[in-house]
Amino acid sequence: MSGWVEIDLAAIAHNLSEIRKVIGRERKIMPVIKADAYGHGLIPVAQVLAREGVDFLAVSYVHEGVELRRAGIDLPIVILLGVLPCEIEALFNYQLIPVVYRLEVARNLSQEAQKKGEVLPIFVKIDTGMGRLGVYYKEAISFLKEIKRLKGIKIEGITSHLAVAETDREFTQRQFRRFEDIVRVAQAEGLVLKCNHIANSAGALMYAQKFPVIRPGLTIYGVYPTTSLKRKLNLKAVMSFKTRIVYIRWLPSGVGVSYGHTFVTSRDTKVAVLPIGYDQGLFRQLSNRGEVLICGKRVPIIGTICMHLTMVDITEIEDVTIGDEVVILGRQGKEEITAEEVAAKAGTISYDVLCRIGRGNPRIYV
Ligand SMILES: *Cc1c(COP(=O)(O)O)cnc(C)c1O
Repeated sequence: MSGWVEIDLAAIAHNLSEIRKVIGRERKIMPVIKADAYGHGLIPVAQVLAREGVDFLAVSYVHEGVELRRAGIDLPIVILLGVLPCEIEALFNYQLIPVVYRLEVARNLSQEAQKKGEVLPIFVKIDTGMGRLGVYYKEAISFLKEIKRLKGIKIEGITSHLAVAETDREFTQRQFRRFEDIVRVAQAEGLVLKCNHIANSAGALMYAQKFPVIRPGLTIYGVYPTTSLKRKLNLKAVMSFKTRIVYIRWLPSGVGVSYGHTFVTSRDTKVAVLPIGYDQGLFRQLSNRGEVLICGKRVPIIGTICMHLTMVDITEIEDVTIGDEVVILGRQGKEEITAEEVAAKAGTISYDVLCRIGRGNPRIYV
């Protein structure tokens, strides 16, 4: 017995419909399903999203796109990180849409497309203030003009990424303005850019801007990028992480628990031992800080979290037996432990929690 993750696929459909209510039904949606759909499982999540009528899917890498195609997903698939020359063949073989931000790659794509007698759709990636990938926004127009001259590739639109959507309204709006200016000037230069996307979850839901296409990740999985959004839409967490108690014992007062004795009992203490640890994505930082749910109640993690074992104090819980279900992430009775809560206690972000727990444990789809 170890731990397992439960994925509520109906919650994905629910979250998508909540997002659509806010952004308007006429907007196109490109859910981001990189990192094994944030730990929820690439193919099952893609299948639900396809059924729910999304317009695109976005992943980081070419190999993720190939996996989707091999599973029979026929939606347009965007490769957010772009490609190296050695990956170009796969784009054609599997009909993947790259983002492009280097002229050399654009030229290679153009040559290959002409050789094959095909036209490859691409998105041009612009850096409007993330300082990561993309053509710097001041050079965007001249870059777009160069690309436009190349035969065999078709610019579907431009794309960019927000750096501080949750924390800095002014800078985010500056990024929007830079982005829109490029679309407008390009238009005036005779370049029609129809399918432009810049907004992640926070960008799409926190700002009144009406984007033709949005690129949500986190909110698809039912996690809020900021608590203020709880007033705007009602998301349902898709992932739960559960295990069962393998051992229950009483320890007298004054006894050290686990490596380093970072916890010492101060009373007769009933301890439950759980068969999971940091190997399963239970962050070590939750030692003596985190909580889990047992019998619908919160109980504290005591002592240092081990590789495959974790101790919790269940002195207050009656009627609990070996084999009882324990919730580390998710709901039990009226209580819920969210990815945001775990992230705050572990000193990380909810994305990290989902990826680590989701990818480190067997998944059950419910
Ligand atoms: C991961 C990612 C997203 C999704 O962001 P969320 O905050 O999860 O909504 C969108 N665009 C790009 C380029 C990304 O890398």
